Amino acid sequence: MNDQQLLRYSRHILLPEIGIDGQQRLLDAKVLIVGLGGLGSPAALYLAASGVGQIVLCDHDTVDLSNLQRQIIHRTSTVGQPKTASAYAALHDINPEVECIALDMRADESQLHELVAKSDVVLDCSDNFATRYAVNRTCQQLHKPLVSGAAVQFDGQISLFDFRRPDTPCYNCLFPEDSQAAELRCATTGVFAPLVGFIGILQAAEALKLLIGIERGLGGKLLTVNALDMNIMRSELSKDADCAVCGGSRAGV
Ligand SMILES: [Zn+2]
Repeated sequence: MNDQQLLRYSRHILLPEIGIDGQQRLLDAKVLIVGLGGLGSPAALYLAASGVGQIVLCDHDTVDLSNLQRQIIHRTSTVGQPKTASAYAALHDINPEVECIALDMRADESQLHELVAKSDVVLDCSDNFATRYAVNRTCQQLHKPLVSGAAVQFDGQISLFDFRRPDTPCYNCLFPEDSQAAELRCATTGVFAPLVGFIGILQAAEALKLLIGIERGLGGKLLTVNALDMNIMRSELSKDADCAVCGGSRAGV
């Protein structure tokens, strides 16, 4: 690290849990963020400010006026632009040292496989079940850690699935794909702006700790947040032996 980097990251370096070694791990790390909406916005900003070496941004959408209430990486001046281009500009402004790769596309399974394979950790900041299941399956297959977040109305949740560990549960254990859970989307049901910020920032926090090598936090756990009562609960997740993604029948697949 040069003098400018030592100064830029000094408040991290001062923490004994991070120090020079931990900061260097962040500088060497590669992160994939799927979705640059309400969750991905703050997550990307904190990861870039913290000096994560490479951040890959994947989103197929363009910035809409109705996004600006909560998707704080975007600006009124970037309405109509691809979200990845809008986010790229903001991240470059905060920390030009970060190598940012903007992919303006909806990744199919094979593209997702390629992107996940190159990443040290994946943040699922998407807003739909189809993407969440695809990202979960890919990370589980490739043994890549996944930080999964979701928020709608006043309720949010976050989990860390560290697929480097064989005993870790997965998103499908929690919400099986065939359960036909009703999909609530912000576009139709609304969402409280600071809630997505809170969940997105927690996703960044879990990713940073994992990259540094701090094994404390939400690994194999579910944190739920109700922003009306401000009730925050943490519970242990258990692996479903019959899970179609990570269960025993799929072991070694
Ligand atoms: Zn599972």
